[in-house]
Amino acid sequence: MKKVLFNELYYQIIWFLVGIVLLVDVSCASFNPSSYKSIEDCVSATGVSVISKNDPGYNDARVGERVRFQQYPRMITYPTNTTQVQQLVLCSNTFKITPSPRNGGHSNTGTSSLNDSLVIDISNLNSVDIDTVSQTAIVGGGIRLGPLYIQLAQKNFTFISGICPTTGLTGVISSGGFGLQSRKYGTTGDLVLEAQIVMADGSILITNSIINADLFWAIRGGGATYGIITQWKLQLIPAWQTVTVFTIEYPYDPNLFSSVLKSFTNFGHIAPDDLSTTLFITNTNFKIVGHYLGNDDQIYEKLSNASLLTYNGSPIKGCDRESIEQNFLLRCDHLGARAYFLDPNKTCTRYDYLNIGTSPYASNSFTYTIQNVTYPPAATAPGVVTQGILSVYPPGPLQAREDVKTKSMYFDGPFNDTAINVIIGLLKQMPSGSFAELLSYGGLLPTQSTNLTAFFHRNVAYHLLIQAPSTSDPTTNAWINQWDSNVRPFSNGQSYQGFEDPDLPNFPQQYFGNNLQRLQNIKSKYDPQQLFSSQSTLNTTPSNQQTSSLFGQCPFVHDEAVPARRSSGNKMFNLIIWDKIMFNLWVIVIFLIW
Ligand SMILES: Cc1cc2nc3c(=O)[nH]c(=O)nc-3n(C[C@H](O)[C@H](O)[C@H](O)COP(=O)(O)OP(=O)(O)OC[C@H]3O[C@@H](n4cnc5c(N)ncnc54)[C@H](O)[C@@H]3O)c2cc1C
Repeated sequence: MKKVLFNELYYQIIWFLVGIVLLVDVSCASFNPSSYKSIEDCVSATGVSVISKNDPGYNDARVGERVRFQQYPRMITYPTNTTQVQQLVLCSNTFKITPSPRNGGHSNTGTSSLNDSLVIDISNLNSVDIDTVSQTAIVGGGIRLGPLYIQLAQKNFTFISGICPTTGLTGVISSGGFGLQSRKYGTTGDLVLEAQIVMADGSILITNSIINADLFWAIRGGGATYGIITQWKLQLIPAWQTVTVFTIEYPYDPNLFSSVLKSFTNFGHIAPDDLSTTLFITNTNFKIVGHYLGNDDQIYEKLSNASLLTYNGSPIKGCDRESIEQNFLLRCDHLGARAYFLDPNKTCTRYDYLNIGTSPYASNSFTYTIQNVTYPPAATAPGVVTQGILSVYPPGPLQAREDVKTKSMYFDGPFNDTAINVIIGLLKQMPSGSFAELLSYGGLLPTQSTNLTAFFHRNVAYHLLIQAPSTSDPTTNAWINQWDSNVRPFSNGQSYQGFEDPDLPNFPQQYFGNNLQRLQNIKSKYDPQQLFSSQSTLNTTPSNQQTSSLFGQCPFVHDEAVPARRSSGNKMFNLIIWDKIMFNLWVIVIFLIW
């Protein structure tokens, strides 16, 4: 009797589970994009929140952190789950409207907000699930760095990536990702274990080092152009107990620049892996910023031995041992060390600086004219403003948007005297609102293969970032352009793909080096009809239509020459249903065997 009852219960459970699987799948598969008359109808059927050109919040919603670009997407959408992302991609594909996936909105040239595109802003896909035993986390593709660090810290873990809390994790991994701990642990992409991607046909692919391994290699440093990444599995790092941070401000004396610059480039790339240093220069300020993983009492010795605290053999004013140790060194917990770089008062207790939500930017203060209508500043996107703020700390301040131009260059070793003289000449003329940031590479990276992932720039010593306000002022424009003509010849010619630069003469090679051809092949394999076009440098089929110019083509002008993206809506729809049916059959068979 007991056995019969048990059997009945057993079958009931099986059918209940099968029912759930079917129900979930039917809701997914029943979406038929070709049954709608327009992309607007199709998007509306997905139930996502949408902002269109005539909505009051459009002007604000269309731009992310960077506002340099004059690009006007057709609609901005905010899906809240992967099924909606699939449906939006299907709408895009059916109506031949380029999708622009958006995470942190930091793209320099607005590749996450392309002209006439469908912006798929995945900032609501921001869950963080930590497994303390395997020291891994499954996180939503829309998470930003600040909330990620905070949530990992709650379980005493951290991850390796950049400083800025609003930067999107997916955008960073797609660029490769370099943080202050990369000299010891490698790039952000090196610590990724798996990803879930919505492909151009609306299907979902899992990629890791075994399944779809070529795609897994490409999405870590090879640009964001293969599909929409909705989930990552990350290898976490147990949090460090103490991090020593420092900012050594030099007297603002341009004669000092060349001595410090020379000493710095002799030292930063060969410093111990635990120590990361950056030289930061504005037109009023000149400093070294450092981050040491641990409690190092020897930092003074290290900097002093590297001649970074002396000038012409004498100690630089304010750079004696006592001043350095009392005024400049700070021991923080690992999360506080991240906050330190954001806090103008240089404390490591302002965790709130990391606590930003899904829409962390202050309303933009720029006025735009779109189709002869002038939109005022401060139009805020409705309904997406304060979500995602974590309750553990007070909300962080809203972040300013920037309208800037940048230059990115890599150097293979110490700077020679000629290079230093040219650089000092430009630093002396720096326009206000600009900066130069020289970041030490080296450490673990040069010991790795340049094709470990698609991130190529491993065998380098320094990265130089120059930023200036984007303006019509000819002096400022001439100044930033001179970095290309005067300083780039001393570099190794490469450029970080995370700081896209439309002026680069041969950017595909400069971003991806010897990995370029392999990336182009992977792009052709996984997105043969080139639906995603944020890196059209990789859009290579057919080969006789290869373009050497990313920025002359897809991102700004919709390219009608690209072959039809799909032959028929029903064919793709059937493919997806077929995938689902096969998947269901497998689930049922496994349950029955069990
Ligand atoms: C202020 C600032 C600080 C930075 N600091 C660092 C740093 O410390 N270290 C570092 O390595 N880099 C840094 N960068 C560069 C940064 O890594 C890149 O700009 C990165 O691409 C930004 O990603 P995002 O998600 O914020 O931007 P987005 O503009 O949202 O996305 C960037 C690109 O990725 C695509 N994309 C976004 N989400 C997805 C998705 N889910 N699936 C597929 N494609 C997607 C977009 O379409 C776009 O082409 C910084 C940039 C800025 C502006």
